[in-house]
Amino acid sequence: MVGSGPSGLGAAISAARNGARSVRIIDRFGFVGGNMTAGLVGPCMTSFSLDGEIQLVRGIFDEFVRRMESTGGALHPSRVDSGTGYSGFMVFGHERVTPFDPEAAKYVGMQMLEEAGVELMLHTFVADVVTDGREVRGVVVASKDGLGYVPASVVIDCTGDGDIAARAGAQFDYGRESDGEVQPMTLFFRIKNVDDDAVDAYARSHPENRFPYEDLVTAAREDGSYPVPRRGVQLFRTPEPGVWRINTTRVLGKNGTDVADLTSAEVEARHQVESLLRFFRDCLPGLENSQLLDTATTIGVRETRRIRGTYTLTFEDLQQGRHFEDVIAVAGYPVDIHNPKSSDGPFDDGIPPTANIYEIPYRTLTPVDLDNVLISGRSLSATHEALAAVRVMPPCFAMGEAAGIAAAWAIRDGETIHDTDVPALQRQLLAQGAYLGPHVERSFEPASSTAAPSFHH
Ligand SMILES: Cc1cc2nc3c(=O)[nH]c(=O)nc-3n(C[C@H](O)[C@H](O)[C@H](O)COP(=O)(O)OP(=O)(O)OC[C@H]3O[C@@H](n4cnc5c(N)ncnc54)[C@H](O)[C@@H]3O)c2cc1C
Repeated sequence: MVGSGPSGLGAAISAARNGARSVRIIDRFGFVGGNMTAGLVGPCMTSFSLDGEIQLVRGIFDEFVRRMESTGGALHPSRVDSGTGYSGFMVFGHERVTPFDPEAAKYVGMQMLEEAGVELMLHTFVADVVTDGREVRGVVVASKDGLGYVPASVVIDCTGDGDIAARAGAQFDYGRESDGEVQPMTLFFRIKNVDDDAVDAYARSHPENRFPYEDLVTAAREDGSYPVPRRGVQLFRTPEPGVWRINTTRVLGKNGTDVADLTSAEVEARHQVESLLRFFRDCLPGLENSQLLDTATTIGVRETRRIRGTYTLTFEDLQQGRHFEDVIAVAGYPVDIHNPKSSDGPFDDGIPPTANIYEIPYRTLTPVDLDNVLISGRSLSATHEALAAVRVMPPCFAMGEAAGIAAAWAIRDGETIHDTDVPALQRQLLAQGAYLGPHVERSFEPASSTAAPSFHH
């Protein structure tokens, strides 16, 4: 397993619980969680249907959230309404988000890995792979020990960037079809000493605002005093009083797989943080006394390589809620594209809503060019538009949970990841507490049922 973000956690825990004997999770940071911790990204966007009625991502994700909640480190999404500070005062697509404390995520994630018997290799960067035809034999790592080699029977690429698959020569897509551009990067930061009630009161007294402080930000943009190339302020209340996450810096035109771009993006974003802090204190009611609590360990990269899989998920699939015979996860978060070239978005590119529930097929995790590498998380096989929906953290957990089972079985059965018994995988996911939507629920009714098999496209 390379990468311990939401998809890596789901994958490693699931693989170990499904009998894979030696599961290693490698991450470049000294803690687990990926964007959820190092990126300070949060809240987890919805794990429910778009209308907020049905919890779609359950299984390991739900276990993880409930464990954080039991220590006061999260609020279960079933208790969180849209239009509140926890959802950034947004309504569309923001029903039932999961506010959480990144420290709780680091600890609970690590505990769940330890309990499952996963071996952690932290402070370790995977720089290359050794291949043999369509298989990856192992990964080349760089760390304080120097260069090393870690052999593997199956690799789940949870790097978000498809580093493993790309180094192994797998084809990938990058950027939107029109001009190859990707979504912008954002350095998250948190502020403390916020007057929570005043922020709420301002939002309540300005119901015409589509996002927090829209009136004040628009005026500032007009007189040139708004310091970032973004239309608004996105701020999210956290479980800790007076502490809010800020998702507002914006760095355009950079490639998250290019180290020079990553470096200049970090520099640009930190300048933006300083300017935003001044703007908040000077102009935004409730934030007059706010102070910087922390910035993320790394700038957040929304989009890089999308490894070409046996199937590529499209916007139309999500819009129509298309049923796939090999569904392994369902989600309801809509297409959320932050415009690659301007201050627009999310949700204002004129893209129609997606279905209340849509499906992610197993084939989006199976690289067309490789036999023992699974993709999970942000670099799955999807178009630019479809990725903008399924990239959020709950579906990444769900993809990981499925990939973990498939990897364990590929080793057990000596088969490729393309030969997975998908109905058995679906049954195992359901047994682990996952939900795969109404079609699969029906298809696994007791044998006495006369219901026709539900697999129809
Ligand atoms: C700015 C921003 C805002 C977002 N807002 C939200 C939000 O509010 N809610 C939400 O639910 N989602 C949000 N997302 C989306 C979400 O955070 C990511 O898409 C999701 O975390 C992807 O999960 P992942 O497991 O695929 O990858 P990641 O979370 O990126 O984890 C990848 C892990 O792999 C490790 N890694 C990568 N390459 C290597 C390597 N070569 N060697 C060793 N380790 C490596 C990294 O250190 C990291 O720990 C946002 C994303 C960004 C960037």
